[in-house]
Amino acid sequence: MEYDVIIVGAGPTGYMCAYRLLEQNKNLKVLLVDKGKDIKSRICPLLSHKLLTCPKTVKGTGCLPSCSITTGFGGAGAFSDGKFNITSQFGGWLSDYISEEQLLSLIKYCDDVNLKFGATKVLTDPYTDEVRKIEQTAIGVGLMLLRAKVRHLGTEENVKILSKIKDSLSEMGADFIFEKALSDIIVEDSKVQGVVLEDGREIKAREVVLGLGREGSTFLEKMLRRHKVGFRNNQVDIGVRVETSNIVMQDINKYLYEGKFVFNSHSGTQVRTFCSNPSGHVVVENDDGVILANGHSYNDPKLGSENTNFALLVSHKFSEPFTDPNQFAKDVASLANRLSCGSVIVQKYGDLKRGRRSTPKRIEQGFVRPTLKEAVPGDLGLCLPYKTLASIIDMIEALDHVTPGIANEHTLLYGVEAKFYSARPDTDMNLEVKGISNLYCGGDGAGITRGLAQAGASGVLIADSILSKGE
Ligand SMILES: Cc1cc2nc3c(=O)[nH]c(=O)nc-3n(C[C@H](O)[C@H](O)[C@H](O)COP(=O)(O)OP(=O)(O)OC[C@H]3O[C@@H](n4cnc5c(N)ncnc54)[C@H](O)[C@@H]3O)c2cc1C
Repeated sequence: MEYDVIIVGAGPTGYMCAYRLLEQNKNLKVLLVDKGKDIKSRICPLLSHKLLTCPKTVKGTGCLPSCSITTGFGGAGAFSDGKFNITSQFGGWLSDYISEEQLLSLIKYCDDVNLKFGATKVLTDPYTDEVRKIEQTAIGVGLMLLRAKVRHLGTEENVKILSKIKDSLSEMGADFIFEKALSDIIVEDSKVQGVVLEDGREIKAREVVLGLGREGSTFLEKMLRRHKVGFRNNQVDIGVRVETSNIVMQDINKYLYEGKFVFNSHSGTQVRTFCSNPSGHVVVENDDGVILANGHSYNDPKLGSENTNFALLVSHKFSEPFTDPNQFAKDVASLANRLSCGSVIVQKYGDLKRGRRSTPKRIEQGFVRPTLKEAVPGDLGLCLPYKTLASIIDMIEALDHVTPGIANEHTLLYGVEAKFYSARPDTDMNLEVKGISNLYCGGDGAGITRGLAQAGASGVLIADSILSKGE
């Protein structure tokens, strides 16, 4: 064998796995492969040349062979402001595999690694008297406030931390191959033997770890199905982007910045708030031709709006015979695209409850100015399934106790917003794939996590399983 361990994907799953392996056993031969570039070469032409649209694949500009923003050492979130959430309550489903205590200790390990390489010591834990009061009201109406200690890594700092982790891995003896995609795994007698890269190179290893992220999830599923690995459907989240005035949200914005609430609706679904943007703007997102609502806010207060937006997402889980939850969400969103002639629909909450469409005039007369001017006034009742819509209404009414005024007539709902997750390969509790020994899958690409902290934790879990086998 050329290597003890080959890790494909140098996102948090991959680099935390490599770090733990080499920290615990410096004699291991570890190779990290990623189709993107090394962290210092991840230069986006859009940002560096101030281009307005992505040129996709321009020679010499930094985005060949794949997008420098989403791929390469550091993974998908390398250029995000990096909110590292220290909690087992959200950010993935690793607690389906291990205990919450174990998960928290793995997250703590990743946090310590970030700290070692320069992460800020500041940890926000918004458990003030005001937050306790909000939480108390929330519990009274069946809303659970999800709390997390957050280490805000910050975009520039995040890149510096990643560069130092990369340098440290090199010093510890790790090898790297960048700008080469995995094309297959080598399996003999139900045991993984190595990987095949896109240039046809075969590299042998005792253990193979796949942390391909959302970017590589479709490829991962196709490849593993070819090797007869079973998959479990994941949930899909469908809902709306809510927009209201900053005044309605002022307490949440002030004391929590982002209030994460979960609610069990009367329809039996779970609804959650997600991605709150004080003084933000609603935007559209193009997912392979399907137009979805989303939201963001600028760092520069001068660019802020008078509104706060956040998503309300209803989790949909499917059982046999249906096997394509992501397509279901895309079909629902496509209906909204069709009704709005290629855009998203905006509707006043009052109109939705009256069972009538919003018209341009009704929106114009409303008290909340839509920040997404391209949204078309219409009727979300014509495209969202009953269960989804009833759950959203339930949640808005419950939220009205915590943020009085949110259920008012003028609140705007944009639809459809959706969050897709990868299907989960069948694995054991250590994320070793069933049917192919010594092959592991972790992180977002395997549908197990959806955040930096749990993705890193999944890599450490895998490393520990490999270390426990001995050499
Ligand atoms: C803009 C943005 C902002 C975010 N902000 C936050 C945040 O603030 N807090 C938070 O907790 N989470 C955030 N996230 C989510 C977080 O980045 C992900 O949850 C996390 O990166 C997942 O880690 P991963 O290792 O599973 O996959 P990824 O980070 O996606 O890494 C996967 C790697 O695999 C490589 N790869 C894929 N296919 C192949 C192949 N065939 N061959 C070789 N290599 C391959 C890719 O190039 C990539 O580098 C954000 C994500 C984005 C996109």
